[in-house]
Amino acid sequence: MSEGVPLKPVRQGIPFVISGPSGAGKTSILRRVLECDPGVRFSVSHTTRAPRSGEIEGQDYFFVAEERFRQLVDQDAFLEWADYQDNLYGTSREAVAGPTREGFDLILEVEVQGARQLRERGRGAVFVFLIPPSMDVLEQRLRSRGSDDEDVVRKRLERAREELREIHGYRYVVVNADMEQAVRDFLHIIAACRLEREKVLPLWSDMDFG
Ligand code: 5GP
Repeated sequence: MSEGVPLKPVRQGIPFVISGPSGAGKTSILRRVLECDPGVRFSVSHTTRAPRSGEIEGQDYFFVAEERFRQLVDQDAFLEWADYQDNLYGTSREAVAGPTREGFDLILEVEVQGARQLRERGRGAVFVFLIPPSMDVLEQRLRSRGSDDEDVVRKRLERAREELREIHGYRYVVVNADMEQAVRDFLHIIAACRLEREKVLPLWSDMDFG
């Protein structure tokens, strides 16, 4: 091996658990993060909700019937799962094990109940909460979607207030006041976590660190 060529890194990917209220901008920000960093993958969840237009099976979600979802629960196939607004959502063990084994860092976009389950399992995941800059901005964003009536907007705001109370269980907070800045913040969090001592040293094992 020529001098200066590193040992072939055999690293385990880091799971990043991202939560935040509906309207905080999770989907668009995470899409940009994935475009910017080829070392990051998106954990594809199972859900019983119907696909929205443009969503792709196996890429956005695995869309399954409730009976199938319940079967998977019985088989202990999920690391976490939750009932969110009358639909079931779950992260399968395989969705996380596959990419992280291959060394990809992984984004798990889960709501707060699922994040709580993952935290209790304590598997070295990094928890990041995305918030809008204010409740007023959140309300404007929810209204500007245009498709929801007053009652739906009010329920989403109520739900957002409940979700915000869970923020104390998260290590990092990204404020989405400016989308490009929020994307950079995410990329910085990912970059910093990759540089944690216990993640780096095993990759440079021919040196004696004492
Ligand atoms: P949506 O239906 O808008 O795609 O997602 C609704 C909510 O479900 C979002 O807050 C999203 O983060 C969450 N969610 C998506 N996948 C999962 C999952 O696998 N587990 C849990 N607990 N929540 C999820």
